[in-house]
Amino acid sequence: MSTTSPALLGPADIRQLAGRLDVRPTKQLGQNFVVDANTVRRIARLAEIGPDDLVTEIGPGLGSLTLALLETGAQVVAVEIDPKLAAELPATIATRCPPEVAARFSIVESDALLVQAAQLEVDGRTPTAVVANLPYNVAVPVLLTLLERIPTLRSGLVMVQAEVADRLAARPGEKAYGVPSVKAAWYADVRWAGAVSRQVFWPVPNVESGLVQFTARPHPVADVSREEVFACVDAAFAQRRKTLRAALAGWAGSADAAEAALRKAGIDPKTRGERLTVEQFAALAAAR
Ligand code: SAM
Repeated sequence: MSTTSPALLGPADIRQLAGRLDVRPTKQLGQNFVVDANTVRRIARLAEIGPDDLVTEIGPGLGSLTLALLETGAQVVAVEIDPKLAAELPATIATRCPPEVAARFSIVESDALLVQAAQLEVDGRTPTAVVANLPYNVAVPVLLTLLERIPTLRSGLVMVQAEVADRLAARPGEKAYGVPSVKAAWYADVRWAGAVSRQVFWPVPNVESGLVQFTARPHPVADVSREEVFACVDAAFAQRRKTLRAALAGWAGSADAAEAALRKAGIDPKTRGERLTVEQFAALAAAR
């Protein structure tokens, strides 16, 4: 270990740590740990974070990515649901980092879906970035919950199942465009940031992984709440093969009412939800 940098974890370190703690990775918690230093460095680099950032990492696990995040000079507040992993991580960080680096780390033991911004506060500020290898089964709700609850988030870089990465980054008209794409676009510009090999994980997952990068942007301007816009999005995609006039009949009260709202928002009633931008959904919700 150099005197100023964390010592990143390799395959032998992960094996040894997991053995000592008797960690048996569970599918339920999406526990696939990264065993490759190049991958965690790549994630930290793509996240474009540095000493000015307070990064929240969801699911730090054994600490592979955490150490790479600390290497950038950022402050890190991690959220881990597994009590055993949450309890051990401070010791791993202390062993592998100089004290001034370890001082930039803190951990909250919680389900990320329940965490509130105030719990992630460090020195009076809340996170500016989220960087994580997300538990795959709850990746979308975790991401959307964080974007909703932490308005100070400026950017993020998350690793998710490749199929989910496609959905999050899809544009209107693309096959993967759906509810996660529109809801994520409410908060941020989202883009695909690369593939990750299965071989960098222990245990090796049975799905491909991808990276998604996002940059926060102002919400679409409309005289309507986020909840109302999202209700319209959910209704439109619940029957995605139907025209919006038909798909939104329940949401608007009748097919005629849906058509009136669509026309008022300047949208062809025969179009489908998969063609609308988040701005158009906002205009439509406001027109009901
Ligand atoms: N960051 C580590 C890495 O890259 O090696 C571990 C990533 S692993 C894919 C997902 C991690 O998220 C695990 O440590 C798991 O215990 C944790 N986790 C699962 N569900 C969670 C939740 N709802 N809230 C917080 N952490 C969760």
